Formats: sequence, C-alpha cells, structure tokens
Amino acid sequence: MIQNLLQTPIEYLKGVGPNRADLFKKELNISTYRDLINFFPNRYIDKTGFYKVAQLQQNSSEVQIVGKIVHLKMVEQKKGKRLVADFVDDTGRMELVWFRGHKWIRENIKLNTPYVIFGKTNFYSGMFSMPHPELELVSDYKRNLRVAMQPVYPSTELLQKKGITNRVIMKLMQEVLQQTGMKFSESLNPELLEELKLLGKAASLFNIHFPKNQELLAKAQFRLKFEELFYVQLQLLRRNLMHKQKIKGFNFDKVGHIFNDFYSNHLPFELTNAQKRVVKEIRGDMGSGAQMNRLLQGDVGSGKTIVALMSMLLALDNNFQACLMAPTEILSIQHYHGLVELCVELKLNIRLLTGSTKTRERREIHEQLESGEIHILIGTHALLEDKVKFKNLGLAVIDEQHRFGVAQRAKLWKKNHIPPHVLVMTATPIPRTLAMSLYGDLDISVIDELPPGRKPIKTVHRYDSNRLKVLAFIRDEIQKGRQVYIVYPLIQESEKMDYKDLMDGYESIAREFPENQISIVHGQMKPADKDFEMDRFVKGETDIMVATTVIEVGVNVPNASVMIIESAERFGLSQLHQLRGRVGRGAEQSFCILMTGHKLSNDSKTRLETMTSTNDGFEIAEVDLKLRGPGDLMGTQQSGVLNLKIADIVKDNAILQSARFYANRLLKDDPNLENEKNSTVKNAYSRLVKNKTIWNYIS
Ligand code: ADP
Ligand code: MG
Repeated sequence: MIQNLLQTPIEYLKGVGPNRADLFKKELNISTYRDLINFFPNRYIDKTGFYKVAQLQQNSSEVQIVGKIVHLKMVEQKKGKRLVADFVDDTGRMELVWFRGHKWIRENIKLNTPYVIFGKTNFYSGMFSMPHPELELVSDYKRNLRVAMQPVYPSTELLQKKGITNRVIMKLMQEVLQQTGMKFSESLNPELLEELKLLGKAASLFNIHFPKNQELLAKAQFRLKFEELFYVQLQLLRRNLMHKQKIKGFNFDKVGHIFNDFYSNHLPFELTNAQKRVVKEIRGDMGSGAQMNRLLQGDVGSGKTIVALMSMLLALDNNFQACLMAPTEILSIQHYHGLVELCVELKLNIRLLTGSTKTRERREIHEQLESGEIHILIGTHALLEDKVKFKNLGLAVIDEQHRFGVAQRAKLWKKNHIPPHVLVMTATPIPRTLAMSLYGDLDISVIDELPPGRKPIKTVHRYDSNRLKVLAFIRDEIQKGRQVYIVYPLIQESEKMDYKDLMDGYESIAREFPENQISIVHGQMKPADKDFEMDRFVKGETDIMVATTVIEVGVNVPNASVMIIESAERFGLSQLHQLRGRVGRGAEQSFCILMTGHKLSNDSKTRLETMTSTNDGFEIAEVDLKLRGPGDLMGTQQSGVLNLKIADIVKDNAILQSARFYANRLLKDDPNLENEKNSTVKNAYSRLVKNKTIWNYIS
C-alpha cells in the first residue's frame, strides 16, 4: 500500500501541480513522493533560542529576535535606494535593511506590532543591522507548526527565481510526510537495527527533515548514511560474487617450464615478500576457474613490472598469449625493452605495437598474433583496435589504470570468446576502503614494501630566490656522475604559456650548464624525436632532462638521482609523488627539490609540507583525498559513488567500513538473499536495483 503511495507523481501533492512538478523533475530530479522524501537538507538552522538586541555580538551567525518595527524610511545613496526599518525590543535598537522588494515591504509591514525576525547581522558605525530578514508576525509564529531545527534544502538559481524557496520546500515536505502517514516500511533487518542500535526508518526520515533535537538528528543521519552505504556495498559484493560464479575463466592450472625456468635461473633479484604474496594471489585467481579481475596497487618503484611478467609467463605455460598495455608510447617502449632483456634467455616472441608502428610491421604483428607466433604483445591503446586479434589471449595486463577508462577495460574483454584474465596495475595509491568502493568488481592486491637497499628520497622545498644554491647543488651531483630531471608544469588550458615556461627554462639551463648535454622532452614533439631524446637520457648520454610531465609515468633511469620540480605549487599531490618516484631507483642517495614562488595558498603549503615529510604513497593519498575530495580520483565518475545522497565516502569512511562488514557478513550467510529473515533487505535491494538508484556498473 504505502509502496504505491510513495510512487505517486509529485504533481498530485497539494501545492505542486504540473508546472512545479516539471521544475522539480528538471532541477532536482524529483518525480515521486518517494523522491521528495529522499531529498535531504544539507544543513540546519538552530532556532531553539532567541536573542535580545543588547546581546548581539559582532560576527554572530544567524539570530532570531522578537521586537517591533517603529519606523520605515527610504535612504538614497549613490549605489541605489535602500529601505531601512528601525527595529526595537526592550533592550535596544537595530536596523532592518532591504535593497529590493521595497514596495511589498511598505505595503505589508505592520508598524508597532510584534514580529519574530531571523537572519544574519552586520555591525557598522556602532549599529547592528540585518539585511533582508525573515519576518513573521508573532501571532502567526505561534500558530504555525514549529520546528526547532529548521532544515535548509539545496536549491538552484531557477528554483529561487520561480519562487520555490526553502520555506515552500519545507511546507511540501510537511505535507508529504503527513500524507504518507510516516508508515515507511523498514529497510534494514530488525536484528541489525537492534545490534547497532540504529534509529528506525520512519523516525529517521522524520528527523532528517524536522529534527526534534541534535541527538535525534545525529541518529537519523547515522542510520541513513549507514543504510545508503550498506546497499552500495551489498551490490558491489554481490556483483563480485556473481562474477566469480558466472564468468568462467581460463584455468591456468599448470606452473610450467617457462615460469620455473625464469624463476630459478633468470630472476635478476630476489622478490620481496610483498611481490611473492601478490604472485601467489594472482596464481590462485588464474587457477580458480573463474575469470581474474585484479587491481594491483603498489607505490612507484615497488616492482610491479616483474609481477606482471611472471603472471604473463603463467599464461604462456598454459599455451595462451598475454599482452601488456601502457598509457604512453615512452612507457610501452620502456616496458618492451625491459621485458625483452629479462626474457632474453627464454626464447620468447615479444613484440611492440604503438601508434607509430609502421604499416608493414603492423601487418606482420597482426598475422603473427592470429597464428599464435607472438607470445607477448606490449603497446599502447593501439592494442584495443579491432584489427588486433589474438589466437588465444589468456591474460591482459593494464599498467597505470587511471589513464584508462572502464570502457577500455571492457574492450579488452571482448578480445576472446572467453574473457581473458585481467590484471590492472596502478601506482596511484588510494585508501583501501575507497578502492573497494570504486572497484567493487575488482579484487585488490597491494605491494606494500619497496625492494631492499633503497634509500628514502630526501625532499626539500626551496623558493625561487634560492635558485643559485639549487643550481650549485645540481652541478655537484652531475660531477659525481648523476643525472638530473627538471620538470615544468603542463596544464592544458594554458598550453602555450607552459610551453614558453619550458623553453625559457631550457635556455637558462643551457646557459648555466654549457659543458653538459641536455635532453628536452615535451608533448608537442613528434614521438620519434621524443624517443630519441628520452633514449639519450636513458643511455646516460645526457646529464639533464628538461621535461614536462610526460615523464611522469613509469620511466626508469636508475642513475638519475635528482628531481627538480619547477612551480611545484601548481602540481597536485599525487602528481608530485609520481614525479618524485622517477628518482630513488638506484643505489645512490636521491633528492627531490620542490621549487616555488613566495606566494602560496594554504592548500599548496599543505601539499608541500606533506611531500617533504613523507615518502609513503598511501599517506599522501589520504591527504590528497582530504584536500580534493573523491571527485578527482580515478574512476569516481564511472562508479557513481559521488551520487550518494547523504553519505560522504571520505568523511564517513568509518561508517563505510562498518557497512561493508555487515553487508559481507550477510552475504556469506545468504549469498542470494533467499533466507526468510533477509526478506526486508531483499525487497529494498531489488527496488534499488530496479530503480537504478544503485548505479549500473559496466562489465
Ligand atoms: P613500478 O612498481 O613503479 O612499476 P618497477 O617494476 O619499474 O616499479 O621496478 C622499479 C625498479 O625496481 C626496477 O629497476 C626493478 O628492476 C627493481 N626491482 C623490482 N623488484 C625488485 C626486487 N625485489 N629487488 C630489487 N630490485 C627490484
Ligand atoms: Mg611501472
């Protein structure tokens, strides 16, 4: 019954009608009673107390006062007219001010009659004033339904213009809550409510709109956030479960000759424990019979490549092909050279395919892929083209996931009649719980240990005015045989200016270091020129690499030990951390110098302080998340976590974890929600899925 009532189009609510219904739909995406009830305030005004004029203080926030208007006058000023009212109570006098709407006020205001006024106050030449106060006759005030904590709803310009004020929405909310009789069916299991001492559904909805007091408001908020996150997690976990039940994967049950030969005879170093653990996890996945979909997180330099290689060797051992996709040409080439070198004794056919592969070679690669002659294909987006067909692709590795979208991941799946196993690698650490919400359908592995013998990079912040000292430092390091990166920001909107900065920088460096060889790499160069310059630096033929952020991802030059970042205040934290990760790869002590001007915003200062105080990518990610919110994080657009109505996945992380725990517990016990005692959850869940309130994930 109540379900049907809640589906009633908003048009039929008293005070709405077709026009307003249209507006609600367009502006707020509200079309039914239920939508309206689920439209939550974003803050509350506490109207529990009254002030006296004599108690007002400068900088007090919104206040509520009872008094009378004794006089109205127009004041003419250069900027325009304003209407000013003298307002008094038994303790003093203040002014109410209107800059517009004079006529209405003049015609409707009752002089010497008690009013309740509400608003923000200003203090100017010894007098308090309140611009555009909310006014209500004390007689009306007493008659109207009173709410101590007044909800303030999100609004839009158009709604304001059409007269749909906060007060109107409050009225409609009261109306809809009255009509639906507050008989909302409970949507969480009674045992869980009991166990967590959660407020019931109906009480929560009432108190979220019209809280009786702070405590009930807090309880209502907690319960609704928990519920929201619970269902998101329930869906993510169920998808993951179903995926494992349904999507058959190639069963790599053999650890064969190639893997063993490599592991026993050609591994250039001992794996770290973290690497060993992750290889084991991947082996487990690929031998489980279900398709692997795994995210491998590991800080820059943690050694993800070797893990990728060993996973690919497992595919080869089971008579499958493998591919490795990287976001840039430079990175693909580097992976190609690196893997060829590692596999030199294994007699494998490893090929490189990028946008600049020549037609003849490209054709040959296409043929050899289809005939199965190529074992491992490395490359850029070029791998995704339809013409690229494998004989039997068993594993696809994607490096630096944040450069690829979910859709591209899905495209790789289609390269086979059975989707290949997928290993996604990223060096952008995101807090684990957040990762779980973003990539619900992925399992997660973490390499949380750097290879032994690495010296932590020393990071300092220097102002431009200290440039001479920095240059002297660079000279010293080059004399010791080291190589140096100097990186300039590249921000799309001002590409031309950035280019000029880079070129100016290059010229002044060339002047400062006349005896040294300098490479330059930037986005406007032809790929071939880029590679040439990059290659000179990799081989040690040049001492300094002047570059934009194109070198951010993955490039490996162990002899480079100094990273200078120009205009460091213009970089985001994760980018700074990525850039810093280019050094500290060899045995020598490495340095990162963040150059800035003197004028710094608070956020910039926080970023610089974070960089100089820690090398830990996860710690940096936490700060980054707090500074920026989840909006800019990879994948958040696709994942829909931002469409949450009330919870905030950063601020409410503790609730998120708890919600995940309980969702997991429930599914362990009853994966298909068949148990009678979970019928409440099942109903709520089906409705959410049906209404697409929980988003639909690709794949
Ligand atoms: P990333 O995780 O950033 O992709 P790489 O795979 O490029 O890191 O590894 C960084 C460097 O560390 C490479 O030079 C690699 O050969 C080296 N390396 C990786 N694992 C180990 C290890 N277990 N012991 C020593 N060096 C390692
Ligand atoms: Mg890498």
